[in-house]
Amino acid sequence: MPGFVQYLYIISAGLFILSLKWMNHPDTSRRGVFAGEIGMLVAITGAFLAFDVHNWVWIIAAFFIGTAVGIPIAYIMPMTAVPQRTALSHACGALAAALVGTAEFYQRQANAATELHGFIMVALMIETLLGFLTFTGSLMAMGKLQEVLPQRPITYRNQNAVNFILFAIALGLAVRLILVPTDTFLFPFFVALSLLFGVLLIIPIGGADMPTVIAILNSYAGLSACAMGFALNNQLLVVAGALDGSSGLILSIIMCKAMNRSFTNVLFGAFGQIQTSSAKQEQRTVRSASPEEAASILESASSVIIVPGYGLAVAQAQHKIRELYDNLMKRGVDVKFAIHPVAGRMPGHMNVLLAEADIPYDRLVEMDEINGEFPQTDVALVIGANDVTNPKARTDKGSPIYGMPILDVDKARTVMVIKRSMNPGFAGIDNDLYYLDKTLMLFGDAKGFTSELLKELPARAAA
Ligand code: NAP
Repeated sequence: MPGFVQYLYIISAGLFILSLKWMNHPDTSRRGVFAGEIGMLVAITGAFLAFDVHNWVWIIAAFFIGTAVGIPIAYIMPMTAVPQRTALSHACGALAAALVGTAEFYQRQANAATELHGFIMVALMIETLLGFLTFTGSLMAMGKLQEVLPQRPITYRNQNAVNFILFAIALGLAVRLILVPTDTFLFPFFVALSLLFGVLLIIPIGGADMPTVIAILNSYAGLSACAMGFALNNQLLVVAGALDGSSGLILSIIMCKAMNRSFTNVLFGAFGQIQTSSAKQEQRTVRSASPEEAASILESASSVIIVPGYGLAVAQAQHKIRELYDNLMKRGVDVKFAIHPVAGRMPGHMNVLLAEADIPYDRLVEMDEINGEFPQTDVALVIGANDVTNPKARTDKGSPIYGMPILDVDKARTVMVIKRSMNPGFAGIDNDLYYLDKTLMLFGDAKGFTSELLKELPARAAA
């Protein structure tokens, strides 16, 4: 049986790797999800065969409770809430790893000399430290994204020093436990410090950075599972945990690069605290236009670049955008979509949204590629995007988003922006794009305004 289980584990690890590879492209992403699901089923079957299950009742009960909670969450939660849902999953996964580590630590006390030797204790300490801090950290991140907790960074004097000292104490306790595993009275303090550290790590980070933080916590949860694999001598957990840990890390690096921010700036920079002066902004005026006016501009354009952002996801306007795309293409207008790597609330958010409406994938053009096209484009139509189009990122050294690569929308001949108000985007700063002479603000909900626009377009065609 152990040999057979090893084969199952190899198949499962292979499926996890293929799953990650296939999820890299929209054409193969469904296959990727399916491969991951089958991989997990094979892994669970292998684990049941490998271990002596003492009590099936607990396992079956957990299966039904998990299914009863998981399925409704998948349907109820809107796609815009995926980051907080992901944070909740990490919290649960990390807590599971930490509790397994805790149970192993106490269970093996009877044979501590042989079963809690140095290597196992190092693995158990890493597992529990990362597991518990990821648990509270992920819950905090979820609270901030859901706006149950204040989004702004909470800072105080010597905050980093306090965090560092607490972390050093937790590490000191871990070292002591590795050397003397029978000092069980220290373990609850170690757990409490790990839980506290997770909270303290997140409070100085602003809500705008939570998606990146969630990717980092994803990485910690993976590393915790990887350490659990070493503690339980389970190779599949080592592989799956390492895949999870490294993919979370790569994702957070991609996000940091796309925002031109460093890891340390995200974790310790208290981004989102800086308030820009609004005195100057209040005197500036913007030009707005009606759906009729916007339709006539689109009608006379020969090239249009649509810039989707978070607001498009909120309004669920993707199907209306598809209709607009079809309408304009039929008129001979060349329509493309400009995709910023951090538009929306998670990487690939816009790709998924537009794919949902069957917008041809070859019409979606990445930022670096499309930026050169804006100066030759008649109309840039920004729909619910804000920060990713803000020229301040290029020009204003004092701006918190200075240096973030943006879509060069302001270089198009005419700019039209659909949004509901002059409210800022995720980073909480005013957008200079809206005050340009070439910019027309189309105030309204993305879906509602696009519907109005569509009503005008056929009417004009008939005329
Ligand atoms: P954004 O800057 O958050 O702006 C979204 C805009 O959509 C808002 O200004 C809002 O204005 C508008 N809006 C909201 N609901 C709307 C509706 N129903 N109809 C029309 N407009 C609506 O979005 P973004 O340009 O996509 O930028 C993403 C931000 O998230 C960036 O700051 C980025 O750094 C951050 N972020 C993203 C990721 C990621 O992985 N994607 C990760 C980390 C951080 P109104 O309220 O006036 O309508």
